[in-house]
Amino acid sequence: VKAFIESTLDRAAYQPVNPKILAELRQILGPDLVHTAPEVLVCHSYDSQDYSAMPEVVLEPTSAQQVSEIVKLANRYKIPITPFAASTGRTGGSVPIFGGIVLSTRRMNRILKVEVENRLAIIQPHVINDHLNQEVAKYGLYFPPDPSSKGVSTVGGNIAECAGGPHCLKYGVTRDYVQGLEVVLPNGEIVDTGPFGTRNYSGSALIGLVTGCEGTLAVITKAYIKLIPLPKVYRTMLVGFDNLTAMARTLTGVFYSGILPAVMEFIDNAAIRCVEAYMHAGLPVEAESLLLIETDGDAISTEIEFNQILDICKNNGATSIQIAETKERRDQLWLARRSLNAAIMRYKPVKIAEDIAVPRGALLKMLEGTKKIAERYRVHVVNYGHAGDGNIHVNIMLENDPDEIKRGEEAIDEIFRLTLQLNGTCSGEHGIGITKRKYCSWEFQGASYTIQLAMRDTFDSNHIMNPGKIFE
Ligand SMILES: Cc1cc2nc3c(=O)[nH]c(=O)nc-3n(C[C@H](O)[C@H](O)[C@H](O)COP(=O)(O)OP(=O)(O)OC[C@H]3O[C@@H](n4cnc5c(N)ncnc54)[C@H](O)[C@@H]3O)c2cc1C
Repeated sequence: VKAFIESTLDRAAYQPVNPKILAELRQILGPDLVHTAPEVLVCHSYDSQDYSAMPEVVLEPTSAQQVSEIVKLANRYKIPITPFAASTGRTGGSVPIFGGIVLSTRRMNRILKVEVENRLAIIQPHVINDHLNQEVAKYGLYFPPDPSSKGVSTVGGNIAECAGGPHCLKYGVTRDYVQGLEVVLPNGEIVDTGPFGTRNYSGSALIGLVTGCEGTLAVITKAYIKLIPLPKVYRTMLVGFDNLTAMARTLTGVFYSGILPAVMEFIDNAAIRCVEAYMHAGLPVEAESLLLIETDGDAISTEIEFNQILDICKNNGATSIQIAETKERRDQLWLARRSLNAAIMRYKPVKIAEDIAVPRGALLKMLEGTKKIAERYRVHVVNYGHAGDGNIHVNIMLENDPDEIKRGEEAIDEIFRLTLQLNGTCSGEHGIGITKRKYCSWEFQGASYTIQLAMRDTFDSNHIMNPGKIFE
């Protein structure tokens, strides 16, 4: 990945941040919000994948007006700007690969208003996902997108990545909850779409374009977030299988039944063993795979659907079923699920983590194919993810050995080829950033690729906004 990224960089295309430019930035923000100390630069050089790069300066604007002035200056001098939130991204989106300015949203972290009658929250971008939910829960409201990083990732980052999560099976992804945005365009213009109602024909195309653009088209400075009623009850079960076919049959059975559970998460045996060793959550380590299934809503329908799903599991070969009878047990199961990413690092020191998604009906072929590819390349694979959405986090786990790493990279190429053969996509929810650019160009060819490039040029003819991301 590193070699691939390095080979595509043309650093000479941009102007270095010199003392004169720093002085101008200090005029815009005051001296305390302009950072050049190495320890601050290092803390803004990485996200949660492996590749890192140092910025030349880190800025912490507090308003859209300040962001606008920074962007105008960057345009004038041709300096790259990388928006940076909690840096939990998994594809390098917030890594400043051309140096330049890192624009941290850290100081724009307020929930401005909750309009209960409109089921709307108006927020600054750096509000943490969980904090928004804690606040709106006081009014019986809910913002469903729940990336496993929700305790630390920001809603601005969620919007920029169009983040998903386990409960997105029933409720949809971040895009479905963005009712409006205030953004600063790459020419410095501030555009506030205002909140569009849930029914609107004319809408603003800008909202759809900026959501999921990974900071390449604009900086989000305010968001109008749609809220829905908080489910009254949750029922959670952990279902074990001794073969993948039974797991896939159960999944299909649930969808044929007409029920839409809130959650259907898949965990394979290697992941079960890692997380069990890590936190002793009482998961059945002998199971070949698990489905974590949850229904939610009002008490009566939740219970009815839960019992119907229990029957489907029993009739399709489940070998164990644990029901979370208390809130504490449900919390423990969710902690186990959310700890998978960290726990699997026990398995091997090097991880190549991917985020493929295939149509639900092709999930079994994908999982079986992944296993075969791993065997062929003599590498270990750990799979878990949002099975109900056909979105699997494929992790190739490797020793720190050049030959094994090379085989791991070849295996990943094959996994992507299989994904595309099965009409899947190279990124279910983690975005393209830098690490998926190669596969993005496999997936989008001809007009569907060039139109996206043309759109980017329309927004940002100087290519100052998060350059090197998504497109080569
Ligand atoms: C343990 C773990 C579990 C995860 N689980 C999930 C999951 O289940 N589902 C999922 O979808 N993701 C998941 N992620 C990935 C990540 O948490 C999400 O992509 C999240 O939305 C990133 O938010 P952030 O605040 O960390 O943004 P950052 O990582 O800081 O930035 C992400 C991207 O958004 C851009 N950006 C940030 N703020 C703005 C802004 N205000 N305006 C314009 N662009 C901006 C950045 O330039 C970058 O390209 C997980 C990550 C980790 C570490």
